Amino acid sequence: MIVLLAGAPGAGKGTQADLLASRDGFRKISTGDALRRQIKLGSPVGMKAKAFMDAGQLVPDETLLGVLKAELGDNPQEKILLDGYPRNIAQAETLAGLTGQTVKAAIHLDVPQSVLIDRLSGRRTCEKCGATYHARTKPTKQAGVCDVCGGSVVQRSDDTEEKVKVRLEVYEQQTRPVLKYYEKAGVYRHIEGDRDTEAVYKDLKAELSKLLG
Ligand code: AMP
Repeated sequence: MIVLLAGAPGAGKGTQADLLASRDGFRKISTGDALRRQIKLGSPVGMKAKAFMDAGQLVPDETLLGVLKAELGDNPQEKILLDGYPRNIAQAETLAGLTGQTVKAAIHLDVPQSVLIDRLSGRRTCEKCGATYHARTKPTKQAGVCDVCGGSVVQRSDDTEEKVKVRLEVYEQQTRPVLKYYEKAGVYRHIEGDRDTEAVYKDLKAELSKLLG
């Protein structure tokens, strides 16, 4: 079964996906995380992807394809939760072709642009475990050191204000049409994402229950 979280960068997809994975038995697949792992490994895919990611642009579909296939696996019984895929219509079609399954729910976490810019440009991320902080609203206890694992906490190279603007433009032009695609398929639901994490999670669960039965 495939469920996806849609929404602009910074909308809180990763946070909600982690909750659904730990509480509800979903396996989270984040193409952004998978690509960052490839960069760390220094693989050819990682090397190709890096320039696009650093620029805030989408990684070309053909570069991402192998990574996506490996992440998806081939167990149709699994409860898969996609975070950050698909980001254009071609990817939505690739997903259907690769899995032979229709997406059961596409939940859109909707957050105003001004909030997204503040969340992303203030976001700091642990290089080791991926925990996220905010420079102003949720700083680490010790500057630059992860509260969870002691790893170093940095600003992602694509979280600078300049790159954030590019990513939000890319989202509007290429990813927003994906919402319509799933609306036509009857599986789209919209949730106000600018609220506390548990309130968003509660609504998310309610929408999923309705769609998944
Ligand atoms: P994220 O961590 O989801 O914000 O993704 C970070 C970056 O990884 C994006 O800005 C893109 O450069 C790349 N990326 C992640 N997912 C995709 C995707 N589905 N298609 C193309 N590029 C992607």
